[in-house]
Amino acid sequence: MTGVTSTRDAAAADGRGPEGEAAAVVTFWQDLGLPGLVDVHTHFMPPNVLAKVWAFFEQGRARTEQPWPIAYRQPEEERVALLRAFGVRRFGALAYPHKPGMAAWLNAWGADFAARTPDAVHSATFFAEPGAAAYVADAIGAGARLFKAHLQVGGYDPRDELLAPVWGLLAEARVPVVVHCGSGPMPGRYTGPGPISEVLARNPRLTAIIAHLGAPEYGEFLRLAGRYPGVHLDTTMAFTDFLERLAPFPAGLRPALAAAGDRILLGSDFPNIPYPYLTQLDALARLDLGPAWLRAVCHDNAARLLGL
Ligand SMILES: [Zn+2]
Repeated sequence: MTGVTSTRDAAAADGRGPEGEAAAVVTFWQDLGLPGLVDVHTHFMPPNVLAKVWAFFEQGRARTEQPWPIAYRQPEEERVALLRAFGVRRFGALAYPHKPGMAAWLNAWGADFAARTPDAVHSATFFAEPGAAAYVADAIGAGARLFKAHLQVGGYDPRDELLAPVWGLLAEARVPVVVHCGSGPMPGRYTGPGPISEVLARNPRLTAIIAHLGAPEYGEFLRLAGRYPGVHLDTTMAFTDFLERLAPFPAGLRPALAAAGDRILLGSDFPNIPYPYLTQLDALARLDLGPAWLRAVCHDNAARLLGL
């Protein structure tokens, strides 16, 4: 692939070096009077798994009809250092399995990553498989404070009876779970608002963070946040030119977006993004919903939810 780029290239493309990009990100939150950013949706995983994720996007297998070069294709310590230079105070470190027999191993890696990375939120995951309830209980006991469920990559039904105790444990422990359940960039058998709505009906106190603002089913997922106090949405890729070309956010939903200002959390998908980190922040700022909305979204909501 010739589309491979690096931070240096991505930042250079808009006239900044890496230091210039960090300075611009810091200016963004300082101008809002914030102590930094909280980004619930970044990815850290074992190097061989991350390499496969990068290849998936760079080889066009996400079928987004536009190139997806990974902007931050760097060693782990450089990626962590970059988030710190950006002033990201806390970040989710999400990993997710695409097959059975993998989640417990990812969780062991995640515990180790969290132990050596104090600003990472200790994150864990699960798959619809026997033993899921036991290793999820173990992960919560070991300190996991954020989970990830990827219904499109995992291809499992969130209503699977093997997962009933898992949702119950998360709801009871009030541990948030980032759920990729929107049908973008491609639909899966169990994506869309239907299946996860049934999970919420059975677990109305579950703290679910709908990834990518539920793209492309923005309206349905915003309505779900109106129905359940635990439903939040992360901004991951939303409102950027890249996602707007695939799944434009309807102008008619802007009032709902403004009204849900206490339920929306900054997410970026760093490092697996095809543009500089600042692009996500600029995309939020140009919504023109005001500094109070941005402060809540970029820091305060997640700080409250994660108990920072
Ligand atoms: Zn993601």
